[in-house]
Amino acid sequence: QGPRAMMFRRQHMDSKSRPNPNSTYCNQMMRRRRMTVGMCKPVNIFVHEPLKDVEDICIEPNILCKNGQNNCHKSKFLMNVTACRLTNGSRYPKCKYHTSPTMRQITVACLGDPYVPVHLDT
Ligand code: ADP
Repeated sequence: QGPRAMMFRRQHMDSKSRPNPNSTYCNQMMRRRRMTVGMCKPVNIFVHEPLKDVEDICIEPNILCKNGQNNCHKSKFLMNVTACRLTNGSRYPKCKYHTSPTMRQITVACLGDPYVPVHLDT
């Protein structure tokens, strides 16, 4: 698969763990998945569902993405996710995150052949 699909999986897929309210989750995962290199990525969501279920979102009807493109798709079902948001006082290279586990429908942008998620638009 292409580099953008691989980047999506690195940044957003964590199928093996359950939603995690422990504040160390985001601090560790944002670093492990290399989103604290050069800068602290301000917001990122990890999805705790099987990859197949997330890839299947690309079969849902096309909707508009935030950037105006039409290649977004919204999950039919609620998904377990953990949202990571940089804390107010956090300064690079000490990236400190709030960790918020929730269930929500997610919107992904899909591209390519196979047509797979490359960006999380939620
Ligand atoms: P994310 O937004 O999932 O945190 P990035 O913004 O780092 O990740 O990367 C998104 C990638 O997806 C970029 O390579 C971007 O060009 C691509 N992409 C494809 N379609 C879209 C879209 N509709 N909206 C935003 N990015 C898109």
